[in-house]
Parts: sequence; C-alpha cells; structure tokens
Amino acid sequence: MPLYEYYCEPCHGIFEELRPMREATEPVPCPDCFKDATRIMPTSFAAFTFREGYPRRIPDDGKYYHLGTKVSKPATGGRPNEHPEVNKPTPKPRKLKGEISELRDMQQAAAKGDVVDNYGNTVRPREVAKMKDEGRILKKGTARSDPSLG
Ligand SMILES: [Zn+2]
Repeated sequence: MPLYEYYCEPCHGIFEELRPMREATEPVPCPDCFKDATRIMPTSFAAFTFREGYPRRIPDDGKYYHLGTKVSKPATGGRPNEHPEVNKPTPKPRKLKGEISELRDMQQAAAKGDVVDNYGNTVRPREVAKMKDEGRILKKGTARSDPSLG
C-alpha cells in the first residue's frame, strides 16, 4: 500500500498513512484529535518559489503570481498587495448631464433646508449626493411613495 500524507486542520498536524490507492482521497481520522484530516496532494507542496523576491509557481513558466493570481509582470510601485492586473480600478459610473444638474438643484435646495430624508430629517448639502444615489432623500413637498403614510 502506498504512503499518503494527511493534514489535520484543527491541530495543524501532518501525518502519514498507508492506504489502498482507491481510498487515498478519503479523509483519515487524525491520530491526535480524531477529526477528519484531508489528504495533502503532492502538488500542493512547494507550489511557490521565490525568485527576484517575487513568488512564482513551480514549474516556472515565466509568469508571476500576485496573491495567488497569475500576472504577466511583477507589481512595481503602488501600494503593497496591489497589482494593476489584479486590482483593476473600477471606473466610477459617469453621471448624465441631467443627473448632474438635478443633483446641483438638490444641493441648493438642501442648503436652504428644503431636502429631507425618508424620516423627515433635514439633509445637509454634502450628504445629498450619497443619499440621492441610495434613493433616501426627497425635496420637501414631494409626494411620498410610501402608501402607508397616506
Ligand atoms: Zn488533529
């Protein structure tokens, strides 16, 4: 019977078991805590090596890895743990002209204290953009959409 290696997560134990090949992938009770331990695949060992101070997967195909994601070149500059190919900046959705002027109207109204949230609290101008996006504000005098408020 071949010898397989197993890893017990609760006690971080690694142990070897002689098992028939067809049972190799089944969990084995840990000899220390008797919890099910899963097999360690031989390929999970030394999956990464460090070259040029950067983790690379073995076998090395010239690609680099950033936090487990394959990238074509190492991260240069920027903030640690960020890679241009991994942390793609998501462009903010552009507001339409109508939306911008509507927002400005709302902010001017808020400056006069004419904008309230769903609870009738006055909304300050700098809160307008965020709350408008969330649909939580309305101008004073606007009909409420909640029928329960009559
Ligand atoms: Zn254990």
